[in-house]
Amino acid sequence: ALLPALEWLTDEPFETQPGTSPRRLLIACSNQQSARRLIETVLPRLQASLKSQLPVAYLAEHGGYLCTHRWFGAALRRTSGELTAEQARGLAKQGIWAQQTLTGERSELTMLPQEITAWERISSGVERIPSADGHIASAYDRCVYRRKGYCFVSRAEERVKTARIVVTTHAGLLDDLTHSHSLLAAIDRRLIVDADLLEEEMSRWSSAELEQTHLLGLLNTIGTELPDGRYQGLLALGAPALRENGPGGLSTTPTVSKSEVDTRMRTWFQTLHHASDAVSNLFSCYGQLLEEFLQHGSGSNNGGRDKGRNSYGGRSNDRTDQPLRLTGETRNLGTWTDVERAWQQTAQRLQHVIDLVHEAERVLLTTQRSHHRLDVGSGEEDSVASELAAIAWKLLEQKRLGQQAMALAESDMVYWLRMPPAPPPFVQQTVQQRLVVPPVPLTTPGGEHSHPPVPVLYGQQVQISALLKRTIFGADICTILAGASLSVDNNFSFCRGRFGLENEACPALSVVTEHHEQTLLYLPNDVPEPNMPQYQRSLDETLIQLATALEGQMVILYTSHASLRSSYAAVKPVLEGRGILVLGQGVDGSPRQLWQLFNSQEHVIVLGTGNFWDNIGEISRVPVCTFITRLPMPVLNDPPVAARAEHYSDQLHQLTVPVASLRLRRALNRLVWSEATRNVVILFDRRVLSKEYGSTILHSLPRSSQRQAAVSHMPETILDWLTASGSWE
Ligand code: SF4
Repeated sequence: ALLPALEWLTDEPFETQPGTSPRRLLIACSNQQSARRLIETVLPRLQASLKSQLPVAYLAEHGGYLCTHRWFGAALRRTSGELTAEQARGLAKQGIWAQQTLTGERSELTMLPQEITAWERISSGVERIPSADGHIASAYDRCVYRRKGYCFVSRAEERVKTARIVVTTHAGLLDDLTHSHSLLAAIDRRLIVDADLLEEEMSRWSSAELEQTHLLGLLNTIGTELPDGRYQGLLALGAPALRENGPGGLSTTPTVSKSEVDTRMRTWFQTLHHASDAVSNLFSCYGQLLEEFLQHGSGSNNGGRDKGRNSYGGRSNDRTDQPLRLTGETRNLGTWTDVERAWQQTAQRLQHVIDLVHEAERVLLTTQRSHHRLDVGSGEEDSVASELAAIAWKLLEQKRLGQQAMALAESDMVYWLRMPPAPPPFVQQTVQQRLVVPPVPLTTPGGEHSHPPVPVLYGQQVQISALLKRTIFGADICTILAGASLSVDNNFSFCRGRFGLENEACPALSVVTEHHEQTLLYLPNDVPEPNMPQYQRSLDETLIQLATALEGQMVILYTSHASLRSSYAAVKPVLEGRGILVLGQGVDGSPRQLWQLFNSQEHVIVLGTGNFWDNIGEISRVPVCTFITRLPMPVLNDPPVAARAEHYSDQLHQLTVPVASLRLRRALNRLVWSEATRNVVILFDRRVLSKEYGSTILHSLPRSSQRQAAVSHMPETILDWLTASGSWE
């Protein structure tokens, strides 16, 4: 799709007619890595072949740039207790990077998930928040760094305005198009690549969380009274400017004494304390609600169909990971009344905090002006005022999320409570310890209190078609959706339905791919089905035989961590005794680390699950054998999936099977068909042969050579295939 689009761009007459603008193209990729690959490798190659040199610019997601104002301002001042080791390491990495970066793009930085909180202290994304005093401009408008040309956001915006090709991500596109200062709305030719991931990316973009530690962290960052009676936080930092007749400027110490704050400020600290208490009480009530549901009501929430399963389709050992979807039925739980009461109190107290933060922001900005600083926008008070405005905005968003979830009303969002993911298993902790990563402390960012685990409230958009229509598919906009996995059984109706596209207005075209000389699809026809008791044993025995015959070179995909861990424990001692390294996702490292090891070692097998299916990234060595343990069916007790399924009368055929087909094809596209080497795919789920829907799944894959035979013949047949040539019909 790219080449014709570029030809259209370069085809334009050299001189554009007066009054018309030159042709422009917007390209949206699923993630930063693929956008980077497009800009650095693919576009230069295609432009060279067309002898064109059209200017290209990248626009990152909201919050995707380093904010120089925050970097040199209050963001790095200590406002909430000691930094965790991860935050300190994240800041150190950022310090080195900030000296060198020319673009300030977050995508240049590699950070571990635990280090990302450090990025939040210095990222852009808060600058357009309007100031509490309508007479004072927003941080962006009054920012002196921007006016002097040091702002990475405004420099990127300038590049975008003059570029003929603008590249962004799916999330970046949505961020821009839902913003009042959109830069991309004017580009009416849009190419969405990786469109098979569009729905997932939009769901991720629309998701939000209400989480106790995060909320308490925000409140503590505004201000808190420490056990020794001193005060800490942004309010303490701004105390010299905030107290009446104060000298202005910021405190030179990270905490201030009682004598340095006035009565009004003391009331503010009390309000913050009350809000923290209300938040703790709310999450404790959420915990009781979830507990009651797990003990008495988990069957009523989903019809009991999927009790004991996790969201990947496997059996879970622990029922506490079961989600409670918030619907009208939740009112029937006895503890709901307490939750409602706790929420009312929390919402009220959060609003008091938001009001006081706005008041403090106003005072800081007015003090700065009254001190006749000429350079408004660069002063220290301004920096604290911007941080306060950003926190007030975040609290407002959190309050809105809670309000919408607690209404239990029908909407296009789904809300649910679930315990946060369990800490990594023992083996993973030992690997992390080797990397000198200390365990996550059970402390608030203030560092004073520890909290028992409590649920997190999640929210996510259910139907993306309305959002797509409102944003990406506007009137008079021409959009091409290109993806490797958009048709089920050679038919586009499933994706059309998900995207809300009408048949007549939107033609669909397929590029037929065939791999019958490259790939053997082996379907063992005598193995137990995945729900049978002997399945796991049969799977493990097969893996040992096959990995031994191939001397590694396999990637095995699971649909549950439990099944992966079970295989890992069974096959690792045997295979490692035979000189084959066994690596498990979540046990020996992240998908990225496992891929690096797979690419660099000869005799290795990798066991992956979850995002290993979709987020495989750069593969420099295609596995000789890709082993699919089970069809990747979505599980209906995952609240967003359950909410989507309610829109279909025949959930199995209209949702479950199409989603599994597309996900399987997508994984194979990247794992098996990204190179031309001869290889094998094994579908170890006998339901593709025994169930009538199996043919839909098989017909959704490109044509390959195929064998249906006993599992015992597999090693020999595969070795024959790998050493032969041509196709097997
Ligand atoms: S305008 Fe100023 S505050 Fe906004 S992102 Fe740029 S440097 Fe940061």
